[in-house]
Amino acid sequence: MRSRHEIRRSGLVLALLAGCATTPDLSRLDLDSWLELRARDFAIVADIADADLRRYAEDLAILVAVAGRLTNVSPAISQVPVRVVLAPPDVYGALVREPRIPGIATTRLEGHWLLVRLDETASFTQETLLHEYTHFLEHKNRRVSYPLWYGEGFAELLSTVHRRDDLVSAGAAPWDRLYALRRTPKLDLEPIFAQRRDNVVRDVDLFYALSWATVHYLSEAPERRVQLQRFLALRRDDVPWRDAVTRAFDASVEQLSERVDAHVRAILRGVPSEIAAYQASELALDRDWQVGQVSAAEVAAELGDIALPLTSLAARAEPVACDFFAHAVEEDPRHARARAASALCDARAGDFEAADVQISDALRAAPDDSRVAVRAGQIEVLRARADSPGADDARRTAREAFVRATALAPADPVAWAELGASYAEDDRDPQPGIDALERAQTLGAWDADVNLDLGRLLLRAGRRDAARERFAEVARIADGDPAREAERLLAELAPGAEAP
Ligand SMILES: [Zn+2]
Repeated sequence: MRSRHEIRRSGLVLALLAGCATTPDLSRLDLDSWLELRARDFAIVADIADADLRRYAEDLAILVAVAGRLTNVSPAISQVPVRVVLAPPDVYGALVREPRIPGIATTRLEGHWLLVRLDETASFTQETLLHEYTHFLEHKNRRVSYPLWYGEGFAELLSTVHRRDDLVSAGAAPWDRLYALRRTPKLDLEPIFAQRRDNVVRDVDLFYALSWATVHYLSEAPERRVQLQRFLALRRDDVPWRDAVTRAFDASVEQLSERVDAHVRAILRGVPSEIAAYQASELALDRDWQVGQVSAAEVAAELGDIALPLTSLAARAEPVACDFFAHAVEEDPRHARARAASALCDARAGDFEAADVQISDALRAAPDDSRVAVRAGQIEVLRARADSPGADDARRTAREAFVRATALAPADPVAWAELGASYAEDDRDPQPGIDALERAQTLGAWDADVNLDLGRLLLRAGRRDAARERFAEVARIADGDPAREAERLLAELAPGAEAP
């Protein structure tokens, strides 16, 4: 049995990693001769042969085209990079220690990363890749939050999009989902509708199977797709799920369960499950790809970036990320971004002497790299927190570094986010910080920390309603620590609570 129970938010990925006491010996990993393929919508980095890399790129190009026809996913290209890393099991295992999770999709201010384990069976890797990419499509315009069953069911639905000769079809049943459905005598959808984002799913296999079956049933006919969209809109307006089911599907949850049950029994009896078919030649697939070699240092630095969110200084130090950055520096001492990230790792460990040496080297090697400037600023923020007599100086230096980063890369959301966050650290006029954070929001993907910082500054500027909106959005969309922090701030702002 297998499961695709991945963790989406980077915070949870870190939590997943943090439980491991020992970090693997990265020098044993083979990071040489990896390839990178750049397409219009994504880039794939992988340790595979050129022909295999192109096959996976074609799978994704087909998925993008089918999703554009079958759903209301925006066809616009993501404004932040979309990076897919197909990693051999040992490299993947250094980052994700739970063997039941074959892929993760994580979205941050500066980009979307999909990390997928290369399985012995290519079709399994392909399904995981398509599943995770569908999560990215769902998050691409992330201002809304979907029910868990919809996100997973939709990802499962599109994970089996495939091509045979010139025919592309969608809707084939994943065999392991059918297996779970076959051993369930009578389907009951109540558990998936009642599942809250923040609770542990009890029976993971059944949850995925029911989610797939429900989304499959609701995607099969155009009128059901309209009903599904109505349901999602009602849930966005906080209509309780039971009422939303009745209003959108004109049925009780018991009646809807019976319909999905009958739908599944028909598929189990052999009724074809394809819900759409296209001629590949009609799909206008993107094949304008550039393929090139990536250095081992570049691969190690990217794996470090996946484990260490760029903007969050509050996140727990992640030893594996720091090991990957150190490994990148070993491979290529002139790799300035890896050296700067390594310097931040030193500062997080309290070793500012080592941090100063490394960050000076990085700044000398790449004086015009905005990300190196950001790291220099972040080190100063940590110094200000650690050293109260020198705190004012350190804060000033940090602010200068972030201003410089925004000048070097005016389109980099990270530079603006860090500049804005630096205003949350002092008690002066919050307006320049608000402006910078709003700019970061416009340039980047949705990010909980940016919204929390913005909310705090809006609150300081006396704009309570605007602040409440930011916190409410984080509470609605995020999981884990940021969601809890947003709930706490909302409670403080509630009528009757004391003004801060
Ligand atoms: Zn998933």
